[in-house]
Amino acid sequence: MKVVIDPGHAGRNIDPGAVNGSTGLQEADVALVISRQVANYLLNVGYEVKLTRTEWEQEETDDLSYRTALANDWGADIFISLHCNSAANESAEGYEVWTSPGQTEGDRLATCIYKQIAAEFPDRAGRTDYSDGDPDKESRFYVLVYTDAPACLVEMAFISNDEEAALLANAAWWDRYARAIARGVTDYTMMLEG
Ligand SMILES: [Zn+2]
Repeated sequence: MKVVIDPGHAGRNIDPGAVNGSTGLQEADVALVISRQVANYLLNVGYEVKLTRTEWEQEETDDLSYRTALANDWGADIFISLHCNSAANESAEGYEVWTSPGQTEGDRLATCIYKQIAAEFPDRAGRTDYSDGDPDKESRFYVLVYTDAPACLVEMAFISNDEEAALLANAAWWDRYARAIARGVTDYTMMLEG
């Protein structure tokens, strides 16, 4: 199984993504750290894994088609994009898993990942849309629409919320999050094989 992990944003001076107003913590950095850990967990159990961005700052990844082409050219079986959420309302909190609109394999992948995040973090708020019968939210995000593989995008927590930004800066929390996502991938794989 070939898994592409997509750390959101091109990083630092190119595009840091969302930034916490108090600490300066950058979404792109958090996404890369956790993506690397997810990759390591999956490599250790026999998956082939590529990251779309491997550096703190990587200019070509500012073009989202670079990311989808990497996955499509490689023939990825699974594509997971990692981001941190942000809102003007600093009390906004929780995690979301997104897919492209309609029922696709991406929805099954997203549900596996959502359930593992929910199990690992029962104290955090899951932000869901059950109108189509599953917990993921749906939008035509570029990397979800133009990736051939089943794809989902995880908004791990709100970097604009100081409490969640502290978690997003915590190494133990990175590890828990990475393991939850990796378990979601193995759950999905077992479902395919089941
Ligand atoms: Zn983002």
